[in-house]
Amino acid sequence: MDTIHKNNEMLVILKNVMNDLYARDTSNKIRAVKHSTFKSGKYVGCYAPIGYLKSPEDKHVFIIAPVTAPVVTRIFDLLCQGYSYRKIATTLNTENVPTPTTFYYMRQGKPNIRKDSDFWAAPTVKASLRNEVYLGHMVQNKTGNLSYKVHKQIVKPESEWIRVENTHEPIISQKTWDLVRELDARNTIFRSGKAGETALFTGVLFCMDCKSPMRRYRDSRKHKDGSYGTYQGYACNRYAAGGKTTCSGHIINQRVLIELLLIDIRFKAALAQNNPIGLKEKIMAQHNAASLERRKTLQATMDALDKRLAELEKLVVTAYEDKVKGVIPEAVCVQLLKWYEDERADKLEQRAKLSAQLEVCQEDEKAADDWLAIIRDYSRLEELDRPTLLRLVKRIEVGERRAVNGHDERDIKIYYNFVGFVEL
Ligand SMILES: [Zn+2]
Repeated sequence: MDTIHKNNEMLVILKNVMNDLYARDTSNKIRAVKHSTFKSGKYVGCYAPIGYLKSPEDKHVFIIAPVTAPVVTRIFDLLCQGYSYRKIATTLNTENVPTPTTFYYMRQGKPNIRKDSDFWAAPTVKASLRNEVYLGHMVQNKTGNLSYKVHKQIVKPESEWIRVENTHEPIISQKTWDLVRELDARNTIFRSGKAGETALFTGVLFCMDCKSPMRRYRDSRKHKDGSYGTYQGYACNRYAAGGKTTCSGHIINQRVLIELLLIDIRFKAALAQNNPIGLKEKIMAQHNAASLERRKTLQATMDALDKRLAELEKLVVTAYEDKVKGVIPEAVCVQLLKWYEDERADKLEQRAKLSAQLEVCQEDEKAADDWLAIIRDYSRLEELDRPTLLRLVKRIEVGERRAVNGHDERDIKIYYNFVGFVEL
């Protein structure tokens, strides 16, 4: 091996190490001053959206507004409870919550003279619920993105939007955002359906065998005494539409279903109150066989890896310096660098795998925490209404009845929001 070749090899290894050091260093810097360049999400509008203020240090950056941020959380919460945009707007008006425009004037110390914007309306609510700014992302160039002048704004095609993630502190968690998107979609589908009230379980109930939605089915036959039947149930939609060659009835009584849901919710709520850690462990174990204990082990292994990686980086630099100073011969330096680099590559690979596993654990843990915080309030739930159902439950699958030892049995699986099916 000639000197040039050896030198090159050394430089390549050294460069790898330096690149990693540099990347880590810059990512830390980005975290600290991530708002500093225009393309990385500098805000250029006149007013901050409700829930945020322009930072006094940098008017292109949002900080959470302590006064208005709770209004944003409330809007998201009301939607999670099954409220429509209009009902959220009327609720806020009843509670005399100032509108974004009124808040703006209040900060200026002036009254809101624009009479068209001193009350909440469905479009303002809808705009807030769909604004990714509350997730901590900056989306600009879409409409001027504020709710103050919604009626004057032109919506640009999404391809022209400039979206930069994580530019400021979020007000809404990703899980809540996803839940809202889902409820939004479900509500749109079922509101545009036939007129009249939505059946309690519409959009939530599915046939366990063919996975088709279940449709409401009512018995409105006239009884002998002149009264009408009050039976309400659900049947597999595929069966109802296509007959018994497509699926079977899966018929279930709404009253039975409500009773079952109440029992399951109350039981889980009580557990969430009395033994939250045990319940959380169970949920997480079901999700990816990663209990809290496993997470701790992962984290410890990760810390050890990080420590060794830092050592290796130092060793590489030292070996190179020693060579330059003439303390060690070049051949020794190259050999050392190769060893270090091999070990480093190996450790980096392990680290990447670990970090992916840890991330999954952390997401699951956050979801479990969110769910426990919601469900624990329902230990005395007596009546199941649609908002409560939608808030708690994502999906229910109903199996067909089958005879077991002379009595009927059937499987019913309740999938909760955030955590899915929780087996105890
Ligand atoms: Zn079916």
